[in-house]
Amino acid sequence: MKKANRNGIDYFTVPGWDARCSLAHGFFTRRGGISPAPYDSLNTGPRGGDTPAHVRKNLERIARALSIPAKRILCPAQVHGDRIHRVSGAEPSIFGTEPPLEGDGVITAERGLYLGILTADCVPVLFLDPERCVVGAVHAGWRGTAKGIAGKAVRRMRVEFGCEPSDIHVAIGPAVGPCCYEVGEDVARAFPEEDRKMRPFFRPEGPGRWKMNLAGLNRHQVTHAGVREANVWISSLCTCCRKDLFFSVRADGEPTGRQIALIGLRPGP
Ligand SMILES: [Zn+2]
Repeated sequence: MKKANRNGIDYFTVPGWDARCSLAHGFFTRRGGISPAPYDSLNTGPRGGDTPAHVRKNLERIARALSIPAKRILCPAQVHGDRIHRVSGAEPSIFGTEPPLEGDGVITAERGLYLGILTADCVPVLFLDPERCVVGAVHAGWRGTAKGIAGKAVRRMRVEFGCEPSDIHVAIGPAVGPCCYEVGEDVARAFPEEDRKMRPFFRPEGPGRWKMNLAGLNRHQVTHAGVREANVWISSLCTCCRKDLFFSVRADGEPTGRQIALIGLRPGP
């Protein structure tokens, strides 16, 4: 992934993606917004206690950086589950007065609609089928990862739009890394035995403690669902190590802000 900067806003992109399907996408950081501490500064979380007008202004800055209309950003109300919605422009945007859809994944082939996932250590995963011009976005914390939400998104893209998994490209954004993500029995037990046996994903740290690789597990799930390894991009940045750059619940505690990962198809071919 490479760093981009437009209108004073930093974000990370996958090289080559925006050339396909008139795509707009980016993994944004905490920098470049107007919210004061503890939401400093580019907070996009509407339900964490920040002033709604600040969140709105931050989203407008992000939208300007991608040259997209802010009111066409759609973020599901994330609940750490594995529900994935096929969405259309009829769904309420993040600025709408109606409550957003509850779920942790959204997919669409509709143009002019931008899917957003909010995180502060959890894994944001973006999907693109450049052959059929279908996009998706998923929120995968430990609960969603234990339920296999990233692999489910690949299968759902196939069912809804006829996407071949071998055509799908996946970008796994900045999240808490195995350097910082220590978990106990409660978390480990939520995963299938075969996942827990895989040392790269669960490194023993003492009795009943593991250092867990959430991003690696999500990569494993999408490749298991048929995505080619060469079509998976994974950020090397840890949100907890880099709390200067990202919101991190582990590093900062709550309340804190949320960064956004966005993907959508611009109007026109
Ligand atoms: Zn770390």
